[in-house]
Amino acid sequence: MPSFKSLNLLPSIIEALDKKGYENPTPIQEGSIPHLLKGGDILGIAQTGTGKTAAFSLPVLHNLASNRVKTKPARMRCLVLTPTRELASQIEDNIKEYGKGLNLSSLVIFGGVSPRPQIKRLSKGVDIIIATPGRLLDLMGDGHVLFEQLETFILDEADRMLDMGFINDVKKVIKKLPAKRQTLLFSATMPQDIAELSKKLLKDPKRVEVTPESTTVEKIEQKINLVERGNKPLLLKSILKDKNIKHMLVFTRTKHGANRVVQHLEKEEISSAAIHGNKSQNARERALNGFRDGTVRVLVATDIAARGIDVASITHVINYNLPDDPKSYVHRIGRTARAGREGVAISFCDPSEKGLLKDIEKCIQYKIPIDESHEYHGVEALLKEEKRLRNPNLNKRRPQKARPAKHNRKSNK
Ligand code: AMP
Repeated sequence: MPSFKSLNLLPSIIEALDKKGYENPTPIQEGSIPHLLKGGDILGIAQTGTGKTAAFSLPVLHNLASNRVKTKPARMRCLVLTPTRELASQIEDNIKEYGKGLNLSSLVIFGGVSPRPQIKRLSKGVDIIIATPGRLLDLMGDGHVLFEQLETFILDEADRMLDMGFINDVKKVIKKLPAKRQTLLFSATMPQDIAELSKKLLKDPKRVEVTPESTTVEKIEQKINLVERGNKPLLLKSILKDKNIKHMLVFTRTKHGANRVVQHLEKEEISSAAIHGNKSQNARERALNGFRDGTVRVLVATDIAARGIDVASITHVINYNLPDDPKSYVHRIGRTARAGREGVAISFCDPSEKGLLKDIEKCIQYKIPIDESHEYHGVEALLKEEKRLRNPNLNKRRPQKARPAKHNRKSNK
């Protein structure tokens, strides 16, 4: 396995990596960095958790610092487009850490906050911009962003851009980029639209593919807790009796569901916070920072908000509701067991979610063990449900006996 030193990165970058405790490049880094240092294009099939941020940041920092050019107002030398504000902030944090001592400037651009500070900063020109597409387009429309000095363009999480409905915005940005540039495209999956876009965007790219899903998943202890829907809050509370659980990420299907879980936990005086699309940028950042520094023990999130959360110390992921899309299951549980650690993923499954569980097991080709040892094991209801699914006749409504009216029943007591 090559070391970072053998990749010929600038000494100050090697020093920063040493400080982070990185010993060797991950496969995506090993596959991309030498090619990127030479100026080539990359098609990276990889998701967060593989080390892809460093795979693109390190060579960009090296190249920009090795050939310094002053940026004019509104210009940048490198643009990273990423779908969520959280990812944009995390990428900038990484770039700052890896680039400490290189004296390169960076700026994040995203919506949900006042554009004024972003515009002010842009007026001086920046080396690296990390942006979400919507706000970038707004600023481009007002003439605050110009691309003549762009050398490297990175499209991160392209499939997620498609999922979140941002792909047309992305294409509008791409139209304005100079033809002569280095381009990198990263995507966890390759839907048709992204494959076509990559053909247009990249010139003779090197394809680097890593399959973290199976490798990450192997390190995660997965289990199913069969439980009645109404018992889910109690089950969560009982799991949290284990004081060793310091960083738990809980996934709910809806934003309201996330708020409800937080309310339950607050009643039990368990420190928790929700992040989802209805929360302001400040509230999301507060929640994430609290989670990172340990003041928030349980972070409750919806799929989209949680995309890219990279807190290495997450030991437990709870699927409070099973996801509709089986692939989300893999993304969700991949939030634990980061950077070589181990993790536990517990999925709550109520009778109505049995079909979703089957879809997930089919997708991951693994029968997730059922843990019967918890206090709220609700196997009977599930067995009944399975019987109902197997025998469609049971679904037909039987003629109901006349029931006494509610007020009569009360008066009978
Ligand atoms: P990413 O896929 O960029 O979200 O990175 C996933 C996690 O792996 C982050 O916590 C990184 O800090 C960490 N990481 C990235 N590269 C390395 C490396 N070469 N050795 C150890 N950890 C790494």
